[in-house]
Amino acid sequence: MTFSVTALGTSSAIPNSKRYTAAHLVNIHERLFLVDCGEGTQIQLRRNRVRISRVNHVFISHLHGDHLYGLFGLLSTFSLLGREHPLHLYAHPKLKDLLDYHNRFFEQENNFELIFHPIEPDFEGIIYEEDRLYVKAFKLDHSVASHGFLFKEKPRLRRINKAQTKAYQLPVSEIPKIKKGADYITPEGLVIPNTELTTNPPLPRSYAYCSDTAYKTDIAPIIKGVDLLYHEATFAKADQERAESTKHSTSEEAAKIAQQAEAKQLIIGHFSARYKRLDKLLKEAQDIFPNTELAEERKVYEIEEVY
Ligand SMILES: [Zn+2]
Ligand SMILES: [Zn+2]
Repeated sequence: MTFSVTALGTSSAIPNSKRYTAAHLVNIHERLFLVDCGEGTQIQLRRNRVRISRVNHVFISHLHGDHLYGLFGLLSTFSLLGREHPLHLYAHPKLKDLLDYHNRFFEQENNFELIFHPIEPDFEGIIYEEDRLYVKAFKLDHSVASHGFLFKEKPRLRRINKAQTKAYQLPVSEIPKIKKGADYITPEGLVIPNTELTTNPPLPRSYAYCSDTAYKTDIAPIIKGVDLLYHEATFAKADQERAESTKHSTSEEAAKIAQQAEAKQLIIGHFSARYKRLDKLLKEAQDIFPNTELAEERKVYEIEEVY
């Protein structure tokens, strides 16, 4: 079962010839979610041969252009391609006003239903849930209201050991209960422990997106044990003051959050255009949290199943 994250843009504020602005594509069991939609997102999706019509949920972290300028083009493309199925959009309530104005200005309407889910500035909690996963929004600390997102699989059912269930002649009607962890009681009253009939399912996997934000230690308990953490690292340590005044993080601070959250892996991104080379940012993060990588444009980060 797939759980992957693709970094579509790794630059902050301004796109350049090598780096696009913020957007991530999350694939969980072949359901596609878009997190932020900076300028050029649809081009990046096409380069990765993603069928954009499969994106049904878009989450916008905050109302800065480098996280949403691509949304207008994407919505227009959906209409031009004749999209008919609904699109769910999760964002600060003010984005709805802008989208309505945009459609009035161009005297157009979406062909499809756009279902807007406002995320109030102070809201923290689950914003999306289905049988296999949920998405939790949590507050970040930025110059405007900003939210991070935690994508997490729900625990899966136990895996049936077919040889054993056959050996005990387990009736099919018992299987759903056994998958949920029940023991089996034979017609003779013998108790067969669940562990003899099943094996452990893979552990629920998770991914957190934290951008844009100043250093905020409250994030750590919310994303505790996350498999893949994407945390913004706009600046190097030498530009600490600039990070504080603009409410961004240094790569060292991103690494501290990963360490406090006991993340398995850290990917840093949202790099300031001032840096031609990023090795210093990487080094400063790795000195604190060794399993850190620089986000690479269009690279797919897989989270493997662990039992
Ligand atoms: Zn930004
Ligand atoms: Zn911002």
